[in-house]
Amino acid sequence: MKVKLWGVRGSLPRPESPDKLNARILQILEDFHSSKAKSVKDFADSLLPNQLGGYGGNTSCMEVFDGDQSIIIDCGSGIKDLGMQLMAGPAAKGNAKIDILITHFHWDHVIGLPFFIPIFIPGNEITFYGVQEDLGQCIKEMFKKPFFPVDFAWLPSKIRFEILEPRKTVKIDGLDVTPYQLDHPDPCWGYRIEKNGRAYAHCVDTEATRVTEQELGKDLGLYKDTNLMVFDGQYTLVEVIEKVNWGHAVAGLGLDIAMREKIDHVVFVHHDPYATHEKIQAAIQQTQDYYQLRVSECKSIGLEVHDVTWEFGFEGMVLDV
Ligand SMILES: [Zn+2]
Ligand SMILES: [Zn+2]
Repeated sequence: MKVKLWGVRGSLPRPESPDKLNARILQILEDFHSSKAKSVKDFADSLLPNQLGGYGGNTSCMEVFDGDQSIIIDCGSGIKDLGMQLMAGPAAKGNAKIDILITHFHWDHVIGLPFFIPIFIPGNEITFYGVQEDLGQCIKEMFKKPFFPVDFAWLPSKIRFEILEPRKTVKIDGLDVTPYQLDHPDPCWGYRIEKNGRAYAHCVDTEATRVTEQELGKDLGLYKDTNLMVFDGQYTLVEVIEKVNWGHAVAGLGLDIAMREKIDHVVFVHHDPYATHEKIQAAIQQTQDYYQLRVSECKSIGLEVHDVTWEFGFEGMVLDV
């Protein structure tokens, strides 16, 4: 399985402003000028992918896929470009079957849906899955004047809604999907997606107020022995204290869970709309300090340390599960 991140911004789409982009391009040009790189390409190759383009401004949308099997998670503004990619295939002729898991209905997780082109093509079959019993009603409300000119009843694709039971596994397009509750208002559901003994845990949005095994209780299954976890890392350590009950976490909480539950790889997303490129770099440094502290704490009392590979996600990133 692979996971593609189509939108990693939290709360509000946040394209980078021209003045910020100008400043970054100027800095990159200066860095190139003072570097010993033989060509622009050599220089660009020496940078991390997000050092040139940043982290992206589109809100939450991920795609979990294995060959032709695929599931979309959430319809933030990132789904617009995913829709364009689907339109290069069978969706353009109305031959696509598209499965969409909904975590919750906060704007940043649904705002892209009215701009998801396959939904306007007759013949496409689109199934929405969610734990919330008002799933269908909430989606239909989005296609209503005066908020959007096309009424839901006019959409020509075949749209179905399936309500999932908490913590009960269902097969969707060949992938095993289990919803678990996260710590977020209204509420929000995370998903564990498994195939051939590999597991992906989608944990966005969550404040991670429950961290210990006892606190997590029946929702512990979301995390156990997961290969890849995408986790809410919206806030810095200071912000997460200032913004109690806002529903988002700091990367360190995800690391605590990952180290205990033996999660191999963690990617932090849902970057704050006010988080500049530089602020995310600072959050990465803070996370590095925290991780090293936790590792040395564990070693000092003789605890076995589970190595976690972790990074901050950016739009367009493709991850192996
Ligand atoms: Zn969100
Ligand atoms: Zn939310």
